[in-house]
Amino acid sequence: MQELSPIRAPDTIPYEPRREAILQALAEACFDDEFYLLFQPQLSNRGHRLLTVEVLLRWRSPRLGLVNVSEFIPLAEQTGTVYRITRWVICRALRQLGYWQQQGIYMRMTINISMRDLEESQLYEQVCAETAANWLEPEYIGLEITETAPLRYSQKVARNIFDFQRAGYELVLDDYGAGFATLNTLRTLQVDTLKIDKSLVQQLEFEKINQLMVSSSIKLAHRLGLSVVAEGVESEFVCQWLTKLKCDFLQGFYISPPLAADELVARFFKP
Ligand code: C2E
Ligand code: CA
Ligand code: CA
Ligand code: CA
Repeated sequence: MQELSPIRAPDTIPYEPRREAILQALAEACFDDEFYLLFQPQLSNRGHRLLTVEVLLRWRSPRLGLVNVSEFIPLAEQTGTVYRITRWVICRALRQLGYWQQQGIYMRMTINISMRDLEESQLYEQVCAETAANWLEPEYIGLEITETAPLRYSQKVARNIFDFQRAGYELVLDDYGAGFATLNTLRTLQVDTLKIDKSLVQQLEFEKINQLMVSSSIKLAHRLGLSVVAEGVESEFVCQWLTKLKCDFLQGFYISPPLAADELVARFFKP
């Protein structure tokens, strides 16, 4: 199934009213009716049999239509309400993962959380509680951390990260090579996996500089003992190029778009 393209604000609507409209609709949103999750598979380069899927949130507002995540998540981060959304995502995603395991369908799952969420003292407890409630093990669950602002490495953030790692959850540094996720972050945040941003990966065919940056990122990550995921794999060329360079996991439209739960099972688990 093709993903519907999000309804964008007409050009005539200035930014402020759009922002206000989104925040208003978000405050009134009934999560269970308006939000849903898609799952995008990652292909393993080393023949691991366990599939990993990234959870991607979608919001269909009765008033605004399908609103792009990259439009409302940053707003929710600014206004400090993102954790409400994250909580819902964690709850639904882990319930789905638990349901699949009960059916004998095993996969790993990564969930996007923002730096803002790591400042919530309840985050770790909530994830642990939902993991246990769904009869899951932390080894099946990863957290993709996106930096939308320069890292504020507070006590709470450090505590959350330490707790997650000790418990066996995988920590992924998301969007590496774009925005604020830099070498410095890699030094400060102790993660297990590096996820190279699609802005570097998509243009690999044509940009020599991107090839150099991606290949040296893969080498650096491996020397640090981290595994590497590349997102935004859109062509066979890029797929083969990354495979040759021993990038551990590949994700992108060339492999599969984000899928609804049923579609994912139909495509990847039915004989
Ligand atoms: P991201 O974590 O970097 O996720 C990858 C984005 O790239 C997704 O967009 C995905 O649909 C898209 N994508 C996947 N493969 C390809 C490809 O081959 N080519 C191209 N051009 N794009 C591809 P999406 O779902 O719109 O999400 C955008 C961003 O919103 C995500 O970027 C993530 O930072 C954030 N996000 C999504 N779901 C959640 C969530 O549940 N919680 C939080 N906090 N953030 C989320
Ligand atoms: Ca991500
Ligand atoms: Ca991201
Ligand atoms: Ca990205």
